[in-house]
Amino acid sequence: MIPYGRQSISRRDIEAVVEVLKSDFLTQGLVVPAFEEAVADHCGAEHGVAVNSGTSALHIACLALGVGPGDRVWTSPITYVATANAARHCGAEIDFVDIEPGTRNLSIADLESRLVGAAAAGNLPKVVIPVHFAGQPCDMQDLAALGDKYGFMIIEDAAHALGAACGSAAVGACRYSDITVFSFHPVKVITTGEGGMALTNDTGLAGRMRRLRSHGIDREGRREGPWGYEMIEPGYNYRMTEIQAALGISQMDRLGEFVDRRTTLAAAYDDKLAGLPLYRPIVKADRTCAWHLYAVEVDPGHCRLSRREVFEAMREAGVGVNVHYIPVYRQPYYQDLYGDPAHCPVAEQYYKHAMTLPLHPALGAGEQDYVVNTLAGLLA
Ligand SMILES: *Cc1c(COP(=O)(O)O)cnc(C)c1O
Repeated sequence: MIPYGRQSISRRDIEAVVEVLKSDFLTQGLVVPAFEEAVADHCGAEHGVAVNSGTSALHIACLALGVGPGDRVWTSPITYVATANAARHCGAEIDFVDIEPGTRNLSIADLESRLVGAAAAGNLPKVVIPVHFAGQPCDMQDLAALGDKYGFMIIEDAAHALGAACGSAAVGACRYSDITVFSFHPVKVITTGEGGMALTNDTGLAGRMRRLRSHGIDREGRREGPWGYEMIEPGYNYRMTEIQAALGISQMDRLGEFVDRRTTLAAAYDDKLAGLPLYRPIVKADRTCAWHLYAVEVDPGHCRLSRREVFEAMREAGVGVNVHYIPVYRQPYYQDLYGDPAHCPVAEQYYKHAMTLPLHPALGAGEQDYVVNTLAGLLA
């Protein structure tokens, strides 16, 4: 099976990990801070807080912004469940804003009309979490303008988007947000096995997230004496290991190479799929996309097979297609909680026809041609 995504591990990546295994510290040494600095410097942010997953980073980002019971968090339904779960773990209510067609990113127009309604009803969100779908940055400037007008804070779920940019604004610089979150799961742009990071330019938020990452403990606390450490609030053990961070630093050296290769493969898909009854992803003119995913939509008007039939035949032929994502409000937990909102018609339309094609740095030209030819044969 040709996987839709997978890691690329070099000999230097392996050597970096082995070196840490032979060292004194497997956790809480100097490699994690060095990785934080490497990512923050690359993105142009002041602070990086490395944790054991992107999900943990979303959770402590919400907590650091004070999200709690009675608060509302809004996000896109076309995301991994972790985005919405982070808000629920804080006791907040979650609601979904529809996407825009083509980019599959959160729709600013839909957001604005919902904000007008929420302002009238007195239930505005505390935090909005845009998701840079497939690695294409959302319209952050417009989003930040709405944030100023309606008084919400912004966490960027950039799990797909390390290496992406909008104009001169790199994702992670937090120019239009309070916190940006990355994931280093093996299918993402770089990997640490499991891992994540929260970036911010706010020293207070960075400190709070560091504390939450490690049991809510302030290591500088000396109330009990020089041996002291003070637990300020019940935090978590969300720490990243030195082993993971060593892999991360080595992978950061290859980020440019990874994004270039993904961009080349995406352009080849655009080229080779032109003319087939499919909607291809649309990237806006001023965006650099990190191309975590390449998701097409089977055009129902011009294709004799349904998405399900195409999906099954592709899998049958050894192509590991996938669907990103089942709209989060369709998950049983969220349906039980909120019923069937069915108020995101664009997300519904996208989900009905969506299929993710294999895209990762090690995908060979021959493999890609096989994917394209298999698909073309089915849609002919
Ligand atoms: C992968 C992903 C996450 C979660 O990251 P983990 O590192 O797997 O916890 C969150 N949001 C989105 C959009 C993702 O793709």
